[in-house]
Amino acid sequence: MRLTFLGTGSAMPVPDRVQTGLLLESADRSLLVDCGSGVLHRLSRTDVGYEGVSTVLLTHHHLDHVADLLPLLKARWLAGEEHLEVIGPTGTKSLLDGLLDVHEYLQGRVDLSVREVGPTSFSVAGFEVSATETEHSMDCLAYRFSAPDAAGDVVFSGDGEATSGLAAFADGAAVLAHDCSFPDDVDVSNHPTPSQLGRALAGRDVGRVYLTHLYPHTRGRHEEMLESVRAHYDGEVAIARDGLRVEV
Ligand SMILES: [Zn+2]
Ligand SMILES: [Zn+2]
Repeated sequence: MRLTFLGTGSAMPVPDRVQTGLLLESADRSLLVDCGSGVLHRLSRTDVGYEGVSTVLLTHHHLDHVADLLPLLKARWLAGEEHLEVIGPTGTKSLLDGLLDVHEYLQGRVDLSVREVGPTSFSVAGFEVSATETEHSMDCLAYRFSAPDAAGDVVFSGDGEATSGLAAFADGAAVLAHDCSFPDDVDVSNHPTPSQLGRALAGRDVGRVYLTHLYPHTRGRHEEMLESVRAHYDGEVAIARDGLRVEV
């Protein structure tokens, strides 16, 4: 399995990080996880391209995770691709219906199927996925992915607090990409700080943790953030960046 961080930013733009998007590839299958603003352009730089991604899995419906959904649909239509499947938490169907109500000319351009999922296990695009709810300002799911060709699992936290439940969900995974939106001195809820993340992960066994969903407040403070996590958690920790590819 290969993980590519397409977008590692947040709702507040910085030049080198677009909004949230991860590309997972296994054998000849690919899966896009979240599709925030800028992700479609990042996807166009990959070998798979937007032509090769027919399935999108959403963690939640905040704009920085869904803004490029219709641009992706339109790009696939223009490229002659006929299908798009969008999977996400409850409300995904009405989100797509609403978007297509506003942009009526895109209705029926591709064969669009929408599936809603809860905190359970399911298959998507050749990946086995389990989901759990996160603590965020709207319903959000974290996902754990396994694939036949992978030495270990990949976990993506979506948006949300660092909790012991999420840490247990990620235990034993090869890779955990976790929301770490702000440095320690920003008083915030619905997203974790590095110290909170380190405390939640203490005693857990994850191959490597990547901090992502980085707000502008984190610029120039990466080392300090990594040290804050390491103060509580002794595994490998790194800062994600757009374009980073990880083989699992
Ligand atoms: Zn969010
Ligand atoms: Zn977000």
